[in-house]
Amino acid sequence: MNEHQRHVKARESILKGEAPQKRIFVHMEDLEEKKKREDEIKTEREQKNERMDALKGAKTPWFCPECNKVMKRKLDDKMYRLHNHCFDCQVKFENKLRIEGKYEEWEEKKVLNNQLSYIRDQIESIEDWKEQTSKPFEVFDQVGVKELELQTEKWSDNKEQIEKWSEEALEELSKLKEDVEEKLNSFAI
Ligand SMILES: [Zn+2]
Repeated sequence: MNEHQRHVKARESILKGEAPQKRIFVHMEDLEEKKKREDEIKTEREQKNERMDALKGAKTPWFCPECNKVMKRKLDDKMYRLHNHCFDCQVKFENKLRIEGKYEEWEEKKVLNNQLSYIRDQIESIEDWKEQTSKPFEVFDQVGVKELELQTEKWSDNKEQIEKWSEEALEELSKLKEDVEEKLNSFAI
C-alpha cells in the first residue's frame, strides 16, 4: 500500500468512526536531526510505556469517589479508568441522560470529538509527508545510507503526483473537519 492509498483508507476509517492508523514522518534532510528525532521518538515511546505501566500499576481506589461503594469488579476498574467512577455510577449517568433525552446527543458528541481528533492527526501526517517529499535528496547520496536514498529518490520522482494527492487529501479532510465542527457546534446552541 502506498501513502496515498493509506490516506484514502484513513479517511474511510474516520468516516466509519474508527481510529485510523497513526503515522509519524521523520524528516531526513539532516541526518543529525534525524538521529535526534529518532531519539526523541524513542524517549517519547519509553515515557509512554512508563506511563502505561504506571497506570497499570496505579490501583483503582477501593471506593468509588462518587458513591463511595467498594469497587471490586473488573467492570468497576475499567469504568474508573475511563470515567473516574464505578460501573454503577456510569450506568446511572447514562440512564439519567436517557431519561433527559440527552443520551443520543452525548454519544454523538463523543463520536464527533473522536472523529475530529483523528482528522487533525491525519492532516498533520499528510502535511509531514508533503514536507518530507519536498526535501532535496542530494544530501543522502553523499552519506550513502542506502535505504534512505532509495526511499527519498522514489518519492522525489513522484513529487508532482504527491503534491496532487496531498492537496486532494487535505482538501477532503478540511471539508470533513468543517462538517464535524459544524455538527458539534449545532449541539452547543
Ligand atoms: Zn460509584
